[in-house]
Amino acid sequence: MRNKLGVCCALIVSILITMTGCSMGYEDYSGAATVMGTIVQCSFRAYGAGNGENVWLSTQGTGNELEYQMLSRRVDDSEIARLNASAGNEEGFELSQELEAYLELCLELSEQTMGAFDITLGALTQLWNIDEAAVDSDNYHIPSPEEIENALDVCGYEKLVINNHRAYMPAGMVIDMGAVGKGIFLSRIYDDWQQTVRYGVVAAGGSILTYGYKDGGQRWNVGIADPSGEQSVIATLKLEGTYYVSTSGDYERYVEVDGVRYHHILDASTGYPSESGISSVTAVIKVDANNTSGNTNGNYIMSNSMVNGLLSDALTTAIFVLGEKEGLRLAHQYDAEILIVRNDGTVVMTDGMHQYVD
Ligand code: AMP
Ligand code: MG
Repeated sequence: MRNKLGVCCALIVSILITMTGCSMGYEDYSGAATVMGTIVQCSFRAYGAGNGENVWLSTQGTGNELEYQMLSRRVDDSEIARLNASAGNEEGFELSQELEAYLELCLELSEQTMGAFDITLGALTQLWNIDEAAVDSDNYHIPSPEEIENALDVCGYEKLVINNHRAYMPAGMVIDMGAVGKGIFLSRIYDDWQQTVRYGVVAAGGSILTYGYKDGGQRWNVGIADPSGEQSVIATLKLEGTYYVSTSGDYERYVEVDGVRYHHILDASTGYPSESGISSVTAVIKVDANNTSGNTNGNYIMSNSMVNGLLSDALTTAIFVLGEKEGLRLAHQYDAEILIVRNDGTVVMTDGMHQYVD
């Protein structure tokens, strides 16, 4: 048995800002830490000499707050954990406006993908437990068809009902925000940095935010990892301005049993890791600072940058399961550019992606 946890990032940003300098009322700063269960690397030019460390601490704080107060299903008191604990209760669960907006957007994507993307698969992801197996595979066993059948019985986005700011779930259903958490985190950083950062980049696992324009005029370089590992990078993106870039890949978290790779992106139509012929999907979405319109869900207005942060992360997971043909259609629908690496190592991309690929 072999295991692998994606310690190498699916996306590789070259840290182009010459670090740790203070001048003219700015400070260049870089940092790395484990936040939201992944390595977060940051490099930015902060407003105000000596402010770099404060910005870095508050960036980490934003991630920790999101994880512990809202998104993690493993932290007892988080909103998602309390929502999951309410499964089967007739009176449902009162959602915060922010979480309600995220859930609504996820459900919209489930409808658009006919369930290829589905945050209600938590019982199935818990059963497969690939995250843990990728760290320690010694006692791993592949779930039996009966176990998979039982888990699938309590999954299904159409069974999650949101009505009057309350969520109603059948007993046993588990919401898993693993496919969107990093994207939500990056959109929060985008908001935080409006006041504190002139330009910068942050990489959280397979998701990256490039923020603003560098003073020197150079573009951001984002390398897309080669899923086969034969070379470190299969393509490099050159980006100018603010973008979300996200990658989902079968090499990020997996366990190998008897030569078969079981990875972490699951297909609800089979109950098994998705086999769509794809090794990785990368999505690029430009954030237009002038476009402040967003989705109105209930009373809560998600800004354009929040919608796109979540979408960039969600779309790669969705397209990974949907496969190439339907994936290209979905990317077009959401104004995302995508690059797919097929299992045989060949690459296909949307027309608009060519402008970014070096
Ligand atoms: P990502 O690496 O962003 O593609 O997200 C993968 C994570 O999302 C997994 O580790 C699971 O927690 C969760 N997940 C797995 N399969 C799906 C799916 N089909 N739809 C939504 N979330 C999923
Ligand atoms: Mg994702």
